[in-house]
Amino acid sequence: MARRRHLVALCALALTTAVAAPGAQPKPAQPDWAAVEPEALGIYQSLIRFDSTAAEKPEADWLKALFDREGIPAQVHALDPQRPNVVARLTGNGRKRPLLILGHLDTVTVDASKWTFPPFSATRDGGFVYGRGAIDDKDNLASAVMTLILLKRLNVPLDRDVILLAESGEEGQSNLGIGHMMAEHYGLIDAEYCIAEGGDTIREKGQVRYATVQVIEKISRGVEITAKGISGHGSVPLTSNAIAHLGNAVGKFISWQPDVKIDETTGRYFRRLATVAASPEQAAAYRDIVSPDPKVAAAAADWLWRNEPRHASMARTSVSPNIFTGGYRSNVIPSEAKARLDVRMVPSEDPAALLAQITKAINDPAVDVQFAGGAGTRPAIPPTRLDGELFTTAEAANQAIYGVPTLPSMSTYATDMWPLRANGVQCIGIGAGVDLEDQSAGYGMHGDQERLRESEFQRFVRFNWELVSRLARAR
Ligand SMILES: [Zn+2]
Repeated sequence: MARRRHLVALCALALTTAVAAPGAQPKPAQPDWAAVEPEALGIYQSLIRFDSTAAEKPEADWLKALFDREGIPAQVHALDPQRPNVVARLTGNGRKRPLLILGHLDTVTVDASKWTFPPFSATRDGGFVYGRGAIDDKDNLASAVMTLILLKRLNVPLDRDVILLAESGEEGQSNLGIGHMMAEHYGLIDAEYCIAEGGDTIREKGQVRYATVQVIEKISRGVEITAKGISGHGSVPLTSNAIAHLGNAVGKFISWQPDVKIDETTGRYFRRLATVAASPEQAAAYRDIVSPDPKVAAAAADWLWRNEPRHASMARTSVSPNIFTGGYRSNVIPSEAKARLDVRMVPSEDPAALLAQITKAINDPAVDVQFAGGAGTRPAIPPTRLDGELFTTAEAANQAIYGVPTLPSMSTYATDMWPLRANGVQCIGIGAGVDLEDQSAGYGMHGDQERLRESEFQRFVRFNWELVSRLARAR
């Protein structure tokens, strides 16, 4: 019901604009959304129904055939023939450099026995669509496919080419997808701007409250810590026991994390988040985390770590001990034990200083701390400009479709945007409207009941259309 009122309001607005501006440029063609909705849902469900956990070829073939039917030029390029990439392109007048949209064909694997609805059924239930990939990333892909089809059918004149890259291997084998395309076919995807997953539109208590647009991401580094001691018979305990020393070292990371480090992106994120926070306690934590007083910031980081761990991770470089190895017989004291730390650095982190900080926190000469795989690292990548056309257009599109503020965000994980950003492409991550309550209840990305509200999927299709047409339509 609310949605219907919203539609009526939009139509009225469009009419008003057309009448109020006689002699101005003709109103650009708008899709007939009532007709588009079932078609968009059909594309979305079709994509989910492909099991693309290990081979994307059937899904890629289906997509290529769809573009062929619509008269949209598309090519297929693969490093592994079972795991191809599809690149579709609408050609503009060349006045501006292209816009690239990324969406991935693959998903993470499933344990089908844990799912209420079969994971590749795209079942509609209670206003949701369930299935692996429902919010990672078949919602993005379906919306972008629909946008391309609409731009083509409505014959919308474009100032720039619009390219859609449907990638394979995003979940852990990006050499097959973005890696292959960048190494062998960069000319086909070279662009001024790119749009991909990585943002969120956040609903809380049934209301869309704000949208996040990803403009930068953390840098993943493995750190290996090694404890060395004297080996011996297990019947004679030694104070140098390597496993005990390693255990003490690893134990630090339930109470210690590197210092809070806020940059322009996260500063603006937390300040804006404070203005839309659901509770005064949350608002105080978001305000305090950006405080110049390190004690105030550290206390806020502690609160966030206990209550909103993702936000704590955004506020600093994070350290998570995820692998622990040592010992081989119950009666032998081993001379060595190792643990692997998953370190996610904020972009401004100094790796050498970080290593020194971790070493000092462990404070044990028997334990050595090193980057796994040596000191080599990713180049420093600047964030997408917050005052640039791409981000401000996303802000305007969020305002038009959702009527909510946009928060620039930093992913705590890596996306396929980083190699493009490293090549100078300005990129943003966007995402459909998801319930905050869903994320910790197994309905989120990679969860056993991954789902998306149908109404939010349809709004996201419109958001996509709004964003892409604002960026590419001829003026
Ligand atoms: Zn994804």
